[in-house]
Amino acid sequence: MTHSIGFVGLGNMGGPMAANLVKAGHRVTGYDLSDVARDRAAGHGVTVAGSAAAAVAAAEAVVTMLPAGRHVLETYRELTEAAPSGALFVDCSTIAVGDARIAADLARTAGHRAVDAPVSGGVPGAEAASLTFMVGGSDGEFAEVEPVLAAMGRKVVHCGPAGAGQAAKLCNNMILGVSMIAVSEAFVLGESLGLSHQALFDVAATASGQCWALTTNCPVPGPVPASPANREYAAGFAAALMAKDLGLAADAATACAVPAEFGRRAAESYAAFAQGEAGGLDFSAIITTLREDGE
Ligand code: NAD
Repeated sequence: MTHSIGFVGLGNMGGPMAANLVKAGHRVTGYDLSDVARDRAAGHGVTVAGSAAAAVAAAEAVVTMLPAGRHVLETYRELTEAAPSGALFVDCSTIAVGDARIAADLARTAGHRAVDAPVSGGVPGAEAASLTFMVGGSDGEFAEVEPVLAAMGRKVVHCGPAGAGQAAKLCNNMILGVSMIAVSEAFVLGESLGLSHQALFDVAATASGQCWALTTNCPVPGPVPASPANREYAAGFAAALMAKDLGLAADAATACAVPAEFGRRAAESYAAFAQGEAGGLDFSAIITTLREDGE
């Protein structure tokens, strides 16, 4: 079944996601503040509108893929007035759980339906339509959004009511940030103990230290040839985005009075690491600071 979709935010993620909606046969009208993003999307069959409001004027579904919560809330204030009544609002950006709930309220108060549907899988997943979507919304909203998201991803998980998708995303990335630092510290300690990277990998990859940070995104070159460490940490999943996600997780922990001691420490480490040029490196490059700190 094809839909009219308004897509706002055609950047590194949104551009290829909108292109995959076009490939799946949907009619996609898009908008981005950037000329470059608009032109690239037009090259993939997206009809480019002159404004965000114009992009959603005839939309059955409104998809947003924007940098942060403030962009989403500003955009929702405008687009919930501009979209036809009863449109399904789908925010795929990574934002705070509280902002996701406010966004859903804005849409519902204006007579629409709304889900938060943040993603995991990065730009390669967006390009290959292999993203994982974590969805917050009612059963009815989930049933409706699932086929649309399936055109852009491989897995669509209903996590609970509004905000639950963002909650799952933040918790998952807190695991990832902490586990990357743990794996990196183990390699640095192993180096000092005279243990080769390959020997530690061969043991931990099939023992209880096994995790994605080790076996897919290994922070040292060699054991996993496709990991960013083999190409001088060219991203990958940029450290700046990890810092952003861990900051949101730490804020959520504060709001819920949860200690999350290691999550908070990881947030601080990534915030410090991601300043300046290192922010564009893959997040596994944090290992370089762990060696320096011990000297
Ligand atoms: P990006 O900066 O490449 O794209 C965001 C786009 O939004 C930009 O093109 C910008 O011009 C546009 N924009 C900003 N404000 C706008 C407005 N008011 N109206 C129209 N367009 C506007 O960022 P990205 O990498 O595509 O990330 C988007 C979201 O996805 C973020 O929330 C990010 O945390 C999340 N995310 C990114 C990745 C990744 O690997 N890049 C992975 C998972 C989740």
